[in-house]
Amino acid sequence: MVELSQNAENIISIQKLKKVYSTEDGDKIALHDVDLNIAKGDIYGIIGLSGAGKSTLVRCVNGLERYDGGSVSVEGREIASLGKRDLRTLRRSIGMIFQTFNLMPSRSVAENVELALLDSGLDKRSRSERVAELLELVHLSDKGNDYPSELSGGQKQRVAIARALANRPDILLSDEATSALDPNTTKSILRLLKDLHDTLGLTIVIITHQMSVIKRICNRVAVIDQGSIVEEGRVFDVFANPRASLTRAFVSTASNLGKVNDLLDDGSELVSRKPGWLLLRMKYAAKGVSEALVSHISRTFGIDVNIIFGDIDVVDGAPLGGLVVIFEGTEERNKAAIDYLKTRNVEVEVLAR
Ligand code: ADP
Ligand code: MG
Repeated sequence: MVELSQNAENIISIQKLKKVYSTEDGDKIALHDVDLNIAKGDIYGIIGLSGAGKSTLVRCVNGLERYDGGSVSVEGREIASLGKRDLRTLRRSIGMIFQTFNLMPSRSVAENVELALLDSGLDKRSRSERVAELLELVHLSDKGNDYPSELSGGQKQRVAIARALANRPDILLSDEATSALDPNTTKSILRLLKDLHDTLGLTIVIITHQMSVIKRICNRVAVIDQGSIVEEGRVFDVFANPRASLTRAFVSTASNLGKVNDLLDDGSELVSRKPGWLLLRMKYAAKGVSEALVSHISRTFGIDVNIIFGDIDVVDGAPLGGLVVIFEGTEERNKAAIDYLKTRNVEVEVLAR
């Protein structure tokens, strides 16, 4: 069977991308052999540590950075083959937001947004109308006359989002846009991005070093390490079964199920053993595990179940995560409960008995 290398639905398609920076200390390979396909309508997460090559990758996608090999195609157009004019047109179909917001301090909120429309061919009045529309879209209708210094970080990022969407792009690139924001503000910005994705049909690429950001809104994720992609897939699958060691490290930062090892090491009272006692970690590793498992096994197998740690989140519409629990039953009952859990797609790992 022939496998198609390029899906016509891919709005961004990257093959064998290579980027080298020449520095005083010699050549620095920032990206090599990067293959990435992003479908129209994806909220696609790219996660990696600092220096992994994330910003370089997005700058290659919007033509801010020339590359040294491979191909980057956006809406079917190869970036490297575009002249200055076509590149300008292309950039208009791509919005971009950053960690540092990049607002002009001497301009009002409305003026900052309007700056993006100066090349649009719209007259002053149409520009004002469009700015009003955009500010409404990001829930800042009452802030048009304020200056950036008067705004909170979350509000500044909303202005930057309005500006990025001014020319009705199909794609929004977000480079660490929530990295300078507190957790609640991060949530509200991510919710806004999700709403804009749903209402405007945007394709969004989210660059981050935080797994929690990926978990909250992305449908697919790529993990980048030292300039190449080490893992890629649906967010649920990557969280449930991370393969690369870097991915495992990222996934465990978003979970507290490893803390039980500290309890065991410290010889905590909470985990002192006795007959019929079993300490185990249960992981929901597949979609479709949504029934009342704990009460079910407790009732059906007649064992006491004591939850020590829990970390269950809804990812892509399905519960994902797990529990660290103590079973107190007889050996046979404990075993029957474990066998039952395994038939329900729950991974069970006995930590102590
Ligand atoms: P990230 O966004 O994941 O933190 P970057 O794409 O900014 O990573 O950087 C990737 C690598 O390329 C890093 O080692 C960085 O030092 C190097 N790099 C980035 N920009 C330049 C540049 N303009 N000149 C030289 N090296 C650079
Ligand atoms: Mg960066």
